[in-house]
Amino acid sequence: MGYVLESPRPQEVKDEVTAQEAAVDEVMHSSPREACGVFGAFVPGTEVSHLAYDGIYALQHRGQESAGMATSDGQAVVVVKDMGLVANVFNEYKLAALPGHIAIAHTRYSTTGSSSWHNAQPVYRMTSKNPDRAQPIEFALGHNGNLTNTEVLAAEAGMLPGTATSDSDVIAELVVRHLDSNPTHDLVDALNHVLPTLEGAFSLVLVDHGRLIGVRDPNGYRPLCLGKLDQGWVVASETPALDIVGAHLVREVDPGELLIIDSEGPVSEAPWPAERIDPKLCLFEFVYLARPDSRLYGQELHSARIRMGELLAEQAPVEADMVMGVPDSGIPAAEGYARRSGIRYGHGLVKNRYIGRTFIVPDQAQRAQGVRRKLNPLRETIEGQRLVVVDDSIVRGTTPRAVVKMLREAGAKEVHLRISSPPYRWPCYYGLDTGTRAELIAADLTVSEIEEYLGADSLAYLTLDALKKATGAPGAGFCDACLTGSYPSEVSVRMERRAPAASPVA
Ligand code: SF4
Repeated sequence: MGYVLESPRPQEVKDEVTAQEAAVDEVMHSSPREACGVFGAFVPGTEVSHLAYDGIYALQHRGQESAGMATSDGQAVVVVKDMGLVANVFNEYKLAALPGHIAIAHTRYSTTGSSSWHNAQPVYRMTSKNPDRAQPIEFALGHNGNLTNTEVLAAEAGMLPGTATSDSDVIAELVVRHLDSNPTHDLVDALNHVLPTLEGAFSLVLVDHGRLIGVRDPNGYRPLCLGKLDQGWVVASETPALDIVGAHLVREVDPGELLIIDSEGPVSEAPWPAERIDPKLCLFEFVYLARPDSRLYGQELHSARIRMGELLAEQAPVEADMVMGVPDSGIPAAEGYARRSGIRYGHGLVKNRYIGRTFIVPDQAQRAQGVRRKLNPLRETIEGQRLVVVDDSIVRGTTPRAVVKMLREAGAKEVHLRISSPPYRWPCYYGLDTGTRAELIAADLTVSEIEEYLGADSLAYLTLDALKKATGAPGAGFCDACLTGSYPSEVSVRMERRAPAASPVA
């Protein structure tokens, strides 16, 4: 049977570290924060832990709180996971301790459940001993997304209030309880039974003794793609994870698809009825979340982001001397804005690429200083210039306010903010951590009120229609709930990650 490698750090130390990391994260990320990347590999005759390491390394941007991997050699499932970046969690010794030709790997940013070692993934379960089952079933599961009926499911699973540490834990518990109650069923049977009870966003990877399994919820909020190696198969949140391991993209896993990969190759099952399938890929995967070299709906995202900037220049022109982007995510749209407007493109801010989770946590009064640790202006480039400053989104307003102040102090004559998405007004319940509505600057303020708060000479956002047009797939299904308040599914229950913060303009 398999095992889970324990972290050597005591729990109180882990929790203290991760609380600090969450506070730093709040300062360092002005855009919506990612919520996990998943990867899976099935390569007969090959030890796949190094390959899975490469795959999840390419998805590091989707979550930096914890990383983990589970492998199977056909006899046992072994899990290694810990807090920290992929490169910190794994080394040669740990990869060597992960034997087998099947692997899943996960990198996490928490949305439901706290940031702690217990919530790091993959989640592992083994069925109870049962005389009707020759051998217990063990499996591990990795989850990208966020369930919206976690508490209801936890109650149905018989979990005592407070014992469910995350929505992913609840999924694993529902599956193992189904298996314990139905000793003639296998993991796929259990998934076909449990999956239709889940609501919300979930792209899953699972491994048992002999199979790699991929699942995408019927709305397909979070991406998941299938790739082919010479001797095997991989699934991943984004296509760069296929590129790095030498796999070619076969297709995106369909919304509502249960994909089972064994030595015979992939087979699809459909746990949901056809009328339940309604593609709603997260629009912010295009705006910001996914890597620029990712492909979604057949489009390369870097090109889509340049188109967002081009349309923004058409919709919100301004007389200026230079267009610049807020590094890194505002850069492609800034290129597009400059190209379409004919205004010179330049670099006005330098980003400290080594900024991470290691510096001392700033308090409320030090937030602007926290931004300065990340970004520093190029004074000779900026001085006396009328600037168009392009960013992908405004969530709380902390970073753009500090950026405008920084640019003015560096001598900018005018600062015109241009945002390559519409105002972010509603919380996300499908796998992004944007905080509560009280934390969103656009929830209650008009564009001109936000402009005044940020201290910009002007502020303009891209419209929703233009954003969808810029994706290159305007007719495809998208979720835009955080921009419109129109949620594709009921979102009455939520396990809040943090207590609501004060209004950003308070
Ligand atoms: S609410 Fe917004 S961030 Fe969340 S899935 Fe929908 S589009 Fe994406």
